[in-house]
Amino acid sequence: MRDRIVAGNWKMNNDFHETEKLLDQLKSYPEPPDVKIMIAPSFTQLYQSVQLLKSTNISVVAQNMGVAPSGAYTGEVSPKMLKGIGVNTVIIGHSERRDIFKEDDNFLTKKIKIAIESDFKVIFCFGEKLEDRVLKNHFEIVANQLKVVLLNLSDKNMMKIILAYEPVWAIGTGETASAAQAQEMHSYIRNIISIHFDSKVADDVPILYGGSVKPNNAKEIFSEPDVDGGLIGGSSLNAEDFINIANSF
Ligand code: PEP
Repeated sequence: MRDRIVAGNWKMNNDFHETEKLLDQLKSYPEPPDVKIMIAPSFTQLYQSVQLLKSTNISVVAQNMGVAPSGAYTGEVSPKMLKGIGVNTVIIGHSERRDIFKEDDNFLTKKIKIAIESDFKVIFCFGEKLEDRVLKNHFEIVANQLKVVLLNLSDKNMMKIILAYEPVWAIGTGETASAAQAQEMHSYIRNIISIHFDSKVADDVPILYGGSVKPNNAKEIFSEPDVDGGLIGGSSLNAEDFINIANSF
């Protein structure tokens, strides 16, 4: 059975004290069985979060990573630095990194290579913008994002990838893809993976949906056969909402 994953992307939220409070609240709920829970705090809160979550099965994920193993990259954080504090998973390609920080597919390909060589698991985000969907180009856009960045990986390395389909028009907007729209795209994605990789890889790769997942819509979206969980932004900042989402399978 594929992993079921609920990952919270805190973005640029939660300082030291807020992190302590939110993680204390999170730890007060029983962990849902058979769901991998992940949280992605800012770099400054990663070590603190790893320490505070030691007694749990919740894993701590970086929101980003530098594009080289070390060197003259002011402001960046290397894979080795992350590994050294117990972080083994990284989000790459979030739409905010693509839009605001102009990280394009070629740059993301390099980041994924570094992450994989450093033995990280990667949550790779991709998805179409509103204009692409209006023009009905969404399948083509997604296929290209996958092809450029992922399709040169070996089967073994592809097993280190968690896919996160995040239609940009649904991120932080309160608009969600319907469960049917999510399933349609996820099955299309799994089919692309099955064409380029071993069928076991296609069966096993988790495909998360991201875009305004809330406690009141998670169950319907997660019930789709090719939706293996969610990447959660806003709702991951509230412990009760986040746990309710993780309990929605
Ligand atoms: C995200 O940023 O990845 C995201 C899905 O955000 P939200 O849940 O707030 O739409």
